[in-house]
Amino acid sequence: MKAFVDKDACIGCGLCTSICDVVFSMGDDGKAEAINKEIEEVNAEATEEACNSCPVGAISVE
Ligand code: SF4
Repeated sequence: MKAFVDKDACIGCGLCTSICDVVFSMGDDGKAEAINKEIEEVNAEATEEACNSCPVGAISVE
């Protein structure tokens, strides 16, 4: 599983980082970014939760 943040859609609310700070962090531009590597199974559920919780649907996982 990998996660992606659409920076054009992200409003910088920080919710995803509070749900799963292993995968998501806030960039210098005030927008979230996802780690650019395969997400470990132990973090998969939190990643899905962050994806489903983003108020603007900026996160996608595949
Ligand atoms: S939850 Fe969505 S809008 Fe909020 S910081 Fe994360 S990606 Fe951006």
